[in-house]
Amino acid sequence: MTAAVGAPGPVGIPPAVTEETEPFWEAAREGRLLVERCPACAAESFPPYGICRACRGRPVEFVEITGPGRIYSFTVNHQRWLPGLEVPYAIVLVEFPGHPGVRVAGRLRGCAPQDVAIGAEVEIGFEPGPGGFAVPSFVAVPSPPGPPGPPGFTAAEGAA
Ligand SMILES: [Zn+2]
Repeated sequence: MTAAVGAPGPVGIPPAVTEETEPFWEAAREGRLLVERCPACAAESFPPYGICRACRGRPVEFVEITGPGRIYSFTVNHQRWLPGLEVPYAIVLVEFPGHPGVRVAGRLRGCAPQDVAIGAEVEIGFEPGPGGFAVPSFVAVPSPPGPPGPPGFTAAEGAA
């Protein structure tokens, strides 16, 4: 195996790369987020699967998604699953305007776990992962000043 990135060795299990997921991991190395798009019905989906989840069509093609996205849901991990894993950290599930059907999970950086909020804007980032792979993660976008809502809810949901 060729030398991986020079960053400190991240803990975890490297992804199992398949024919269907190889383009995704190749693009990830370049900091680009690819999702699958079905040429037949235009449905987009993630993670790569090699077949359209909507119409079962194949082959599918890849399209690049750019940020920002919005936090659809999140969880905070406090468990040190692996030696060397720094906790706590937030894992966010992110959706993107104009890309229904696509939600991408990843670690959130640039925001304390207790400050993560649904609906908050995030940029796509990648960070070194196990085995020299770049893994998707997200970087919090500072929100404009405004009245704070209850933690974990957007103002709209809080008012419902
Ligand atoms: Zn389709």
